[in-house]
Amino acid sequence: TKTINLNSRPVGKPQLTDFEFTTTEIPELKDGELLLRTTYVSVDPYLRGRMSDAKSYIAPFELHKPIESGSIAEVLESKDSNFSKGDYVSGSLAWKETQVAKAKDLMKVDPDKAALSAYLGILGMTGLTAYIGLTEIGKPKKGETLLVSGAAGAVGSVVGQIGKILGLRVVGIAGTDEKVAMLKSEFGFDAGINYNTTKQMSEAIAKACPDGVDVYFDNVGGEISEAVLFNINKFSRTINCGAISVYNNKELPKSISVQPFLIKKSASMQGFVIFDYVDQHPAGIKQLTEWLATEKLTYTETIREGFENIPQAFMDLFDGKNKGKMVVKL
Ligand code: NDP
Repeated sequence: TKTINLNSRPVGKPQLTDFEFTTTEIPELKDGELLLRTTYVSVDPYLRGRMSDAKSYIAPFELHKPIESGSIAEVLESKDSNFSKGDYVSGSLAWKETQVAKAKDLMKVDPDKAALSAYLGILGMTGLTAYIGLTEIGKPKKGETLLVSGAAGAVGSVVGQIGKILGLRVVGIAGTDEKVAMLKSEFGFDAGINYNTTKQMSEAIAKACPDGVDVYFDNVGGEISEAVLFNINKFSRTINCGAISVYNNKELPKSISVQPFLIKKSASMQGFVIFDYVDQHPAGIKQLTEWLATEKLTYTETIREGFENIPQAFMDLFDGKNKGKMVVKL
């Protein structure tokens, strides 16, 4: 079956040559296993971290072995009593068209309740990240100002909408005018800033957040987040969710010292990895499902087609080519 391996560890921006297109044998099905046909593959910025061999919260991919990511697959054959042919499952799967996987590592998803791709986004990892990150770490209070970076992406677009549900003033930062317009028209943000056309980010943030920033949901890190520091309020909370602007850096970036900013404002900053909050996932999914069903939440996806296009879709995340959740349909 068609398979995509990690060919080399990217230096700087990932390149097509970092991926190896190959074919692998499909092993015989054993008890407790499923034969699966992949239907949707999620591409995510965090996969960049797994492509390097630096120690992290999740093991690096091995060279010349398949890359894996959140995926949806159809069960072609089952040797597990909980699953039958025709079921759809979600889980971390290899970048293979067809594969054998252990049933215990997979979750059944219902194609009648939501679009299959939604289980990779709004009802999956990125939706949970938005909900748990904002509520648990951000502890927002009605009337406060929430600033979101990476605002038009999978996580950011949901963070902003949840902010509105919770009664906050919500401001988003994104990379194009089209995305900034979308923040307001589709996701209900109160204001937006295009960081690519703004020279003085700290001033633009001050203007868009006249009462300062109480909660900063940070998806990008780097210079954008440094500019935010000049605008944080007393007792503000920053959620360090992602730092995509520095994932491809070859050297540690030169950055300003955050401590004086935090001290002065009795402010906090907290890192956050969604996999450390597994016990809260079921309640999170329940809430997201309810908001989706009652149309309090909406979502956007960028759907690419074709197994061969998975690496390009992944690389395009770093050029901001997606709006909302980027997935590849097979
Ligand atoms: P997105 O859908 O937000 O896609 C990535 C977006 O990042 C792009 O569309 C682009 O939008 C923006 N971007 C790319 N390069 C830069 C840059 N140099 N500076 C600023 N923005 C940039 O991805 P996700 O929603 O899946 O992930 C968002 C962030 O959340 C990532 O940092 C990711 O690692 C993190 N994350 C963390 C989790 C956790 O558990 N902590 C779980 C899931 C995600 P634009 O056009 O606006 O530049």
